[in-house]
Amino acid sequence: MLKKGISNGVKEMTIKEIEAKSILRKRKRVDSWFISHCGMNLYRGCTHNCVYCDGRSEGYYVEGEFGKDITVKVNAIEVLSRELDPKRKRTPFKRSLIMVGGGVGDSYGPIEKKYQLTRKALHLVYEHKLPVHMLTKSTLIERDIDILKKIDEQSRTIVSFSFSSVDDKISAIFEPGVPSPHERLKTLAFFKNEGIACGMFLVPVIPFITDTPELIEESIRKAVEIGLDFVIFGGMTLKEGRQKDYFFNVLKKHYPHLITGYENIYKGSKWGDATTEYYSSINQIFNRIAKEYRIPKRIPASLYNDILSENDLVIVILEHLDYFLKTEGKPSPYGYAAYSISQLKEPLSGMKGSLQKLKGVGSVTERIILEILKTGGSSYYGKLLKGG
Ligand code: SF4
Repeated sequence: MLKKGISNGVKEMTIKEIEAKSILRKRKRVDSWFISHCGMNLYRGCTHNCVYCDGRSEGYYVEGEFGKDITVKVNAIEVLSRELDPKRKRTPFKRSLIMVGGGVGDSYGPIEKKYQLTRKALHLVYEHKLPVHMLTKSTLIERDIDILKKIDEQSRTIVSFSFSSVDDKISAIFEPGVPSPHERLKTLAFFKNEGIACGMFLVPVIPFITDTPELIEESIRKAVEIGLDFVIFGGMTLKEGRQKDYFFNVLKKHYPHLITGYENIYKGSKWGDATTEYYSSINQIFNRIAKEYRIPKRIPASLYNDILSENDLVIVILEHLDYFLKTEGKPSPYGYAAYSISQLKEPLSGMKGSLQKLKGVGSVTERIILEILKTGGSSYYGKLLKGG
């Protein structure tokens, strides 16, 4: 059913109601960015309309005009209720945080005021005693403080907000449909005051605009002032086609002098990646500043070592180590070791004498794994998490 109405302050949106077959997107392997095996999107499309959003690219098959048209999965709660019901599941849920948000949508777009699917889904998550990780750019999440606190008291809630920087003027150009960074920071401070773990996804920084040492430092400084638990950093992708064309139109209007620089770093890679040299240069800037401020660069294990299975905890920590070393330009055996462990069916604690038989696991990795199994963490990891 097609409906018109609700303005997000940018465009009038068109709403299409559909019946969804499934809601949870599941992954076999734990995602070490979000600490999650499964997530949900209750709406398709996003009226926040960020200029750099890869939801606009052809690969995601978001129907209609991106930024204006939105699809509502009107039966989402009924379907989710079935999917979360342990009696109907052949294999039990893998323990991890349920990811609400991410993908190509925001669970707290203006449409949520009317349908309240996110709020209802959180009530189901609470009933099933599951932990959640929320990722949004919208201050509307404050509405759900009551249920998010209840989930936190029972299992765990992590609230993350994404930013391209904390500069309100730049955000108004590239994130026209969302509250300003200043307002997002206020909401994060509100959740921190309520005792909930919070973090910043400084993703994506916009090349030559928000990737400067000054702006990256400003974002990290604000995160530290509020007492955020982590800042996760990432560069921008720009896929050929709709995403790149849309972005370039805005760039030409506001920053025409940067076009050549963009053409030099985005050379048509299939996934829209910029050159390795570019990513490595911004990672170095971020690493230097994060180290100065001693802010964790990934979600710290203390926030989920009581939730994940022992194998998943080891995988996540090894993948984080892999990230820390690679973004410093150093070799790392940890990614391969994490992969080997992800293929195991048995728990690592039953293999203590034979860990080095696993591909990619040498004596140093073995020591780290044994420490994680014993303490839920690793001192080496703790050191690199805040920059070494
Ligand atoms: S909030 Fe996220 S999903 Fe929505 S337009 Fe912005 S980047 Fe895309």
